[in-house]
Amino acid sequence: AQDVELSELALRPRIGGPKNLPILERYLDDEDCAIGKVSMTKPHLVILGSGWGAVSVLKNINPTDYHITVISPQNHFLFTPMLPSATVGTLEFRSLVEPIRRIISKVRGHYLEASAEKVVLSDRLIEVCKPSPSGGEIRFYVPYDKLVVAVGSQSNTHGVEGLEHCNFLKTIEDARQIRRKVVGNLELACLPGTTEAERKRLLSFVVCGGGPTGVEFAAELYDLLNEDLTMVYPKVLRNLVSVHIVQSQGHILNTYDEKISTYAQERFKKDSIDVLTNARVSKVLEDRVIFTQKDEDGVVQTKELPYGLCLWSTGVAQCDISKDIVTSLESQKNRRAIETDEHLRVIGAPLGEVYAIGDCSTVRTNLTEHIVEFLKSYAVKSGKRVEDCSVTFQQWSDLAMNIRRRFPQAGEHLRRVDYLFTEYDTNKSGTLDFDELTHLLQDIDSKMTSLPATAQRAHQQGQYLGRKLTSLARTETLAMTVSGDVDDLVYGPFEYRHLGSLAYVGNAAVFDINGYSFVGGLVAMYLWRSVYFAQSVSFRTRALLFMDWFTRGMFGRDMTEI
Ligand code: FAD
Repeated sequence: AQDVELSELALRPRIGGPKNLPILERYLDDEDCAIGKVSMTKPHLVILGSGWGAVSVLKNINPTDYHITVISPQNHFLFTPMLPSATVGTLEFRSLVEPIRRIISKVRGHYLEASAEKVVLSDRLIEVCKPSPSGGEIRFYVPYDKLVVAVGSQSNTHGVEGLEHCNFLKTIEDARQIRRKVVGNLELACLPGTTEAERKRLLSFVVCGGGPTGVEFAAELYDLLNEDLTMVYPKVLRNLVSVHIVQSQGHILNTYDEKISTYAQERFKKDSIDVLTNARVSKVLEDRVIFTQKDEDGVVQTKELPYGLCLWSTGVAQCDISKDIVTSLESQKNRRAIETDEHLRVIGAPLGEVYAIGDCSTVRTNLTEHIVEFLKSYAVKSGKRVEDCSVTFQQWSDLAMNIRRRFPQAGEHLRRVDYLFTEYDTNKSGTLDFDELTHLLQDIDSKMTSLPATAQRAHQQGQYLGRKLTSLARTETLAMTVSGDVDDLVYGPFEYRHLGSLAYVGNAAVFDINGYSFVGGLVAMYLWRSVYFAQSVSFRTRALLFMDWFTRGMFGRDMTEI
């Protein structure tokens, strides 16, 4: 009788939530999938996003434990590390994407092509919106029992004016636009009426930002101009082409080992890629980039660079939905990302209902709490009061090793405490008292940057969450009988393992693996390719990648504007 009631209820569209919108209760393609009915037996898990974090959850969760819905405006997964190669035709767009429905069908889930705009935590509803082709919009709520926010990030504008003239590199459409513009500019430069100065401007490519994306794009562009341009375009154009990287720091690739950034910079110098360091863009005009640059004597000068294409790639910022979640929760302190605890649960949201992973999130480290916990247990063992405790270098080293394992980004900051021991006593036999250590760690806590915004981190967090959600579903009875932190009882906290960083620098590649750096030419480049080939999301994309590299080797890059 209950089943009949529920299915009848599902036939009537229910209106509700703070904005009185329709609430999604059943899916078109599945008679049995009225959410109200299914949720009586299985929790409804909603995942926002179809990128690295979301796909990793889908690949690691047991589909029989949840009724899964993915909401994302992008109906594919994009293999971002190789996106710069698609901007110049080294790889085809199709080889970098996997349809999200193909991935979802393996977990018998549902997909809604729309954007999540708001999360109503009190009612466990997500406000979803999709612009309709007729000019209006379709707006409704999707209910959830558990929610995973994996919406990634957007380009950081740093408040610079004129970015509407720039290209970005985050999506397949961005890469397509860049490719069209590069080829379009080359064609314009070939027209008889184009002046020499205009040709130079059209063929001036300016990259704002010397991080991995900007550097890889510059390298790919350089390869294109050197290898294909001379073969199919008038040779005279080659001397008019210029590639510039404007970097605000003293080096490009400054998050990598110093040896790597020096190698990349020298390689670019040899390749005549102009690297402008200590240079900050202040404005982008329709045809020129205005920037200030500090010279060796510390004098700041205002300069300008004409451009035919300007790529803006200066780091990441929060998406609107992440901002909304952060501002709606009082306990969120970080304005740059959604803060989670070590179990990846959004701080301030009802416990165990909302998780955030990938670029949109940051794990609150609470180093101070760790040390206090440690000191308390140490005090109990030694029969002292916490305030009277002090820590020896050996004890500190054990604790620091533990902290480093959980928070690799703490590494360089923790060394400050090591130095303190050395400062007090060169044999490191001295001790630090409780107050001193707590004070230091509070300071480190506030200075520590979040984990890097990388595919590697999003993937590991998705993997962790997929497995944990499976364990949680299996221990539903535990949740009913045990009071306290069920997540903690079922699964340990998330631990990030940094597997290294790599970047392509134009027929060469650089690797930074666990503190060991490796730079090299063709061998490194093939190694770089094989790492990404192995990581590619499906057999289909691997086959396509292989064919692209083969075709490019045989016939050169595709230089059409399609
Ligand atoms: P994403 O993969 O960006 O996915 C976010 C998803 O959320 C998208 O599907 C998006 O459509 C969706 N979404 C956005 N807004 C909403 C909304 N309101 N509602 C619902 N869904 C929404 N990292 C590396 O580790 N190595 C590299 O070599 C590397 N190279 C890169 C090269 C480029 C050109 C770029 C752009 C990035 C690169 N990165 C690299 C970074 C890496 O891509 C990101 O760190 C990673 O994609 C983050 O994964 P994510 O799941 O958090 O977000």
